[in-house]
Parts: sequence; structure tokens; C-alpha cells
Amino acid sequence: METKVTAESARKKAELLAGGPVLLPSDFKPPFPPSRSTAGPGAGHPELVFSFGGTRAKKAISRDSGDFLLRDSGGRLSILKDGEPFIEEAELQRTLLHAPFQAFINVDSRCAYRCVFCSSHRLEPHATKNLTDDKVVEMAVNASRERGFTGVALTSGVPQSPAETTSRLVGLIERIREALPETSIGVEPYVTSPDQIDSLLEAGADEIKINIESFDRDVFEKICPDRDYDVIIHGINHACEVFGRNKVCSNIIFGLGETDETTLNGVKVLADMGAVATLRAIRVNELNRADLDRTLGETQPVTASRMLNLAREQKRILQDYGLSPLGFKTMCHACLACDIVPFWDV
Ligand code: SF4
Repeated sequence: METKVTAESARKKAELLAGGPVLLPSDFKPPFPPSRSTAGPGAGHPELVFSFGGTRAKKAISRDSGDFLLRDSGGRLSILKDGEPFIEEAELQRTLLHAPFQAFINVDSRCAYRCVFCSSHRLEPHATKNLTDDKVVEMAVNASRERGFTGVALTSGVPQSPAETTSRLVGLIERIREALPETSIGVEPYVTSPDQIDSLLEAGADEIKINIESFDRDVFEKICPDRDYDVIIHGINHACEVFGRNKVCSNIIFGLGETDETTLNGVKVLADMGAVATLRAIRVNELNRADLDRTLGETQPVTASRMLNLAREQKRILQDYGLSPLGFKTMCHACLACDIVPFWDV
């Protein structure tokens, strides 16, 4: 089955994603400012996207310690692991806004929900810099003028209610759609009713991400105590009906104590609806570690081989259903930086 990169590059990407930060030499100055995301697995940390062998990985960077070491030999970058050469040639990939080639904007990091794995709501309340709607639209339009720009995506915490947040996202999508009529727009909301999904589509969104987070119901209840599993499943199903097949995606996080069987069953359930899972290894950091430990007890760290195996199995399932992450124009499937992506990496 075809992939875009070699098995060796995929394995190195998995090892990078499974490991700790990349230590930068003290005198190394990145050619552009690191990404400082307020959403996604690396929220709250400076990160850089390393591209190598036709794929890329977004990694936390550190000046103090790390599992990997960046080496700069007169502008030629390589990465070492345990003091040994690991990636012979790497480049730094600029993020437009949060992701390479995309303006992926978290419009509000404040969130009333207490999802245990998520770092966004643990950030300072001003982390999203009190983005006004005018500012968000301006950021999207400015990004669209950059070389390599491919699309816009919006997400948000839920400071008050899902209905209010959706309504803000609808207004923003309408304005961005008007300003950028040809641009692909993705949206990653927490929605609680079918009409909220319809309104995002009518506003001009092309793709939607509604995260189920875990297909293990016990795990879900523990890690998302304020959200409703059945409402999310119904939302994904409805989104597939109105947005269409291969236009809907959903995070399934693994490494929370669930089995691979449960995770892959989730991939299948989603595929049966027409949605493509984003299989994401849990990222544990100082913002979420204590809460995760308290909620789930001791869990096994995710290994590179588990990441690769799950992605390969996911690929088989997607093939059976005629789906692929590579059809997406926005959000994580298009970004490639945080997960092993079926049909691209494996
Ligand atoms: S894969 Fe998703 S979460 Fe990770 S950097 Fe890209 S858009 Fe953000």
C-alpha cells in the first residue's frame, strides 16, 4: 500500500512524537519565532515543526534538557538521539498560525469544561490575547497572503455555552468566507445540537472536527466529565450527513488506559458514518500530568511502535470504507505534524 514516506522516516517521526522535547543549542536562533499554541497537544509550550524525509513533526523545544538534540552545522540541521545521529537532515517548517500552511486560530482558550488531557483551559485567561472578531478575521486574511497558504481553521474553548461559542464561530466563518471566497475553511467546535452543525455549514465551513476523544466510555466519562458521549456521536453522524463523507474528522486519543481494540473499533464506527478519526497519542506535560495521574492512575507511556501499529490498522479500515485523511484541506489531517497519518506516513 502506497505511502508518501519511507518506513524509516515514519519510524523516526513516531520516535520523535513519542519522546520528550528537542534540546536546542544555546547559541541556536530559529529563523522565525517558535509556535506558541493555545490549543492542541502542545498548548502552552514553545514548539517547532521539524520536516525531514517528506514528513514533519511538531515538537516542544527546550534550552535546558531534551530527549533529542538539534545540531546546527553551518546551517545544516540534524537531530541526535542519545548522542547518536538520528535524523541526518532536517529543516524547520514555519507555521503560519499554529500549523504549517494554515491559519488555525483558537479564538478563545477560556473553557468552562474540565477535560483532563487538555491544556488550553489551564493557560492564563489572556492566552488568546482577548482576540476580537475583527482581529481573528484580520489574522486569517493576513495569513492568506503568505506563501504556501492553504486554508483557515477555527477552534475555541467554551467559556459560556456551546450555543454561544458556535454562534461566534458562525459569525467568524461568515466573515472569513466573504473575505476569502475560495479558501478551505475547517472548524473544530464542541457542539451539542444538529442545528449548530447546520449553522456552521451554512456559514461556509467545508470541514468539521467533532472530537469524541475516547471510545472507551469509562475513560471518556473520567476525562471529559462535563461532556456527553452520545451527543458527540450523534453530532458526528449528523455532520457526516450534512458535510458529507470524508469531510468530518474526530480525535480519538490513545494512551489513556484503553485497549487498541476499543480504539480501532472507534475508527470503524466513525468510518461507518463517513468520518475519519485522528488517532492521537496522549501528550503528557507539566500542565496535565497531575490531573491525568489522579484521574486515570498509572498508564503506560505510548510507544513509537504502538503509534505505528494503530496507524497501519487504521489505514486498513479506512481503505475498506474508501476514506482517507489526505482528502482533508484543513486541520490536523492536512497538517501532518502531531500524528502518524495513514496513507502519508504508513
Ligand atoms: S496536527 Fe493538529 S494539533 Fe498538531 S499542529 Fe497540526 S493542526 Fe495543530
